[in-house]
Amino acid sequence: MNLSALPAFADNYIWMLHDGTQAVVVDPGDAAPVLQALDRDGLQLAGILVTHHHADHVGGIDALRPRLRGPVWGPAHERIPAPFVPLHDGDTLDVLGLRFCVLEVPGHTAGHIAYAQQDGVDAPLLFCGDTLFSAGCGRLFEGTPAQMHKSLSRLAALPADTRVCCTHEYTLSNLRFAAAVEPGNTARAAHDAHCQALRAEGLPTLPSRIGLERQINPFLRCTEPTVIAAARAQGADGDDAVTVLAALREWKNRTR
Ligand code: ZN
Ligand code: FE
Repeated sequence: MNLSALPAFADNYIWMLHDGTQAVVVDPGDAAPVLQALDRDGLQLAGILVTHHHADHVGGIDALRPRLRGPVWGPAHERIPAPFVPLHDGDTLDVLGLRFCVLEVPGHTAGHIAYAQQDGVDAPLLFCGDTLFSAGCGRLFEGTPAQMHKSLSRLAALPADTRVCCTHEYTLSNLRFAAAVEPGNTARAAHDAHCQALRAEGLPTLPSRIGLERQINPFLRCTEPTVIAAARAQGADGDDAVTVLAALREWKNRTR
């Protein structure tokens, strides 16, 4: 199975999975990069997975329909261009012979879902939209810090080797923020150097791995004493993980 990140807009990735004949794409905000890839590799579009309703994730769907030979899957509780197959927490779907489980992960949007692969010989895949980014998380447009904490905790509990396919190339900016939160985190420093080198070559820093994110992502580390202390210094008025996450998110919003 081939996995690639098709760049779109300024910093989006449209993830494409294909087996040499059939392809599925995730969050096609723009049809053009998808059509280009399909034509270049002679692929049929067998399905579209959608994580949430934002335009940079759904904007290309209608333009892709004439080429589509399968369903659009999307979150049941969001407005996705119809028709689509509405998905709920715990649903499973089979895509190019891979089985994915649906996780409802509210926070960035109210009905955001993620697709976590459940089987296969390669390291499992996670398509997490704008919920989990490498070294960061999505902004809380429609959800609460408590919801985002629960959502991120579910994703963090996936197998360590899970390949984390996020929808934006925000890694370097997130790593700068992570350095402010945990200056002494050596895993974070090492990953920063690695990602700087990738970006210098014009390569994506993604997919990441869940095991790595547990080590470097401050939003998955809200119970670490250093992270709690950093959040406290930014005004968090408690040590619990939700309070810490809320303070980190507000701090990040200010430092962009
Ligand atoms: Zn979004
Ligand atoms: Fe987005």
